[in-house]
Amino acid sequence: MQPVPASEELFARAQRVIPGGVNSPVRAYRAVGGTPRFITSAKGAFVTDADGNELVDLVGSWGPMILGHAHPQVLDAVQATAARGTSFGAPTQAEVELAELIVERTPIEMVRLVNSGTEATMSVLRLARGITGRNKIVKFAGCYHGHVDSLLVAAGSGVATLGDAASRAVPAGPGVPDAVAADTLVAPYNDRAAVEKIFAEHGDEIACIITEASPGNMGVIEPGTENGEHFNAFLKRTAHAHGALFVSDEVMTGFRVTRSGQFGKDGVEPDLMTFGKVMGGGFPTAAFGGSAAHMLHLSPVGGVYQAGTLSGNPVASVAGATTLKLCTDDVYSHLDAMSAKLQQAVTTALQAFGVPHVINTANSMFSVFLGAESAVTNYEQAQTQSQEAFAAFFHSMLDQGIYLPPSGYECWFLSAAHDENVVGRVIDALPKAAAAAR
Ligand code: PLP
Repeated sequence: MQPVPASEELFARAQRVIPGGVNSPVRAYRAVGGTPRFITSAKGAFVTDADGNELVDLVGSWGPMILGHAHPQVLDAVQATAARGTSFGAPTQAEVELAELIVERTPIEMVRLVNSGTEATMSVLRLARGITGRNKIVKFAGCYHGHVDSLLVAAGSGVATLGDAASRAVPAGPGVPDAVAADTLVAPYNDRAAVEKIFAEHGDEIACIITEASPGNMGVIEPGTENGEHFNAFLKRTAHAHGALFVSDEVMTGFRVTRSGQFGKDGVEPDLMTFGKVMGGGFPTAAFGGSAAHMLHLSPVGGVYQAGTLSGNPVASVAGATTLKLCTDDVYSHLDAMSAKLQQAVTTALQAFGVPHVINTANSMFSVFLGAESAVTNYEQAQTQSQEAFAAFFHSMLDQGIYLPPSGYECWFLSAAHDENVVGRVIDALPKAAAAAR
């Protein structure tokens, strides 16, 4: 591993005052070892660390940076807005524009802005429970919806990365009350029989099914189609048959996999949706939405309470709105083409060195399951990947100037700034990393 004294010093300082030295667990490199890079600046497809290394960024802040870093038009809009004041705790034009853009791109009629994806899913569950008068929810093993108590049950993302096999089998982590976890019913992803069984047993107690629209937090898993029916269509049909709601979490996929997200691919209209990441343009904003009939259950109109000091923040809203306006069809075509090219190169390099692997893709986000020998369609199968092979691959790429997510349970994210040259740099690094992963 290349020495990074400046990052090492910052990490030592950080660990004295921040648990594990990080403000979100997966940043700590626990799965791959070594010192997390402290980032000092970023531009386009690159991040620069505290030791001055310029790295091709395939993390993209875990998804938001779809246009690349420090996009000049986003920065101009942010600076102009911030110069007029940063928070008023009162309605602003910026939040109306962002809400209009979200509504225009998706099947929902109304949206409420919040500050993080976690807040969006937490609020959407309260709304689903408030509308139906029921408490139980159904989620899928390996899907991550933020660190909400009731959703931190058999969760993916950092929970998948950090847990050993035994703790991953535990339904919920310490601090999540058993009583709360008991209301969360978990099925394996893509398993229709398991969903039907849960509804047969608890159908009249279930408020909603919540699913990642196309999972990315156990690595990318593609929703299956059976007898011509998409998994999300099956979930909606099953939920409705029992008076429950279908909630699609598009925090990761929204405005990334198509201009409207996974909805743009499967056309299944959810009852409620959540968004985050891309819609904030790199700022802390997120949203949940649905039909007017559902959303008007929220206060101040209805009785389901939800609020936020900084919700609809003007700087965050303008960053998000500017980003969405710049996400044209051309951007999505470019992202898809670069993603396909890179995936092909990864396969070629790994095959050349005889490294078994599976690549699952959702357009400009994809995952490489190193060591997996057969299709990966759920969380259990995602766990057949080799953490050791991934760590070796990851560090070889990092030493060659390529910044990958530090876990095999995460996605590689591309941005509009990843052009042929940048992708070429990643491709050039692959053979050495593939050799290391053998
Ligand atoms: N839902 C999904 C699908 C996510 O991927 C994430 C975060 O990765 C969240 C919810 C939580 O979002 P946040 O980290 O902004 O709280």
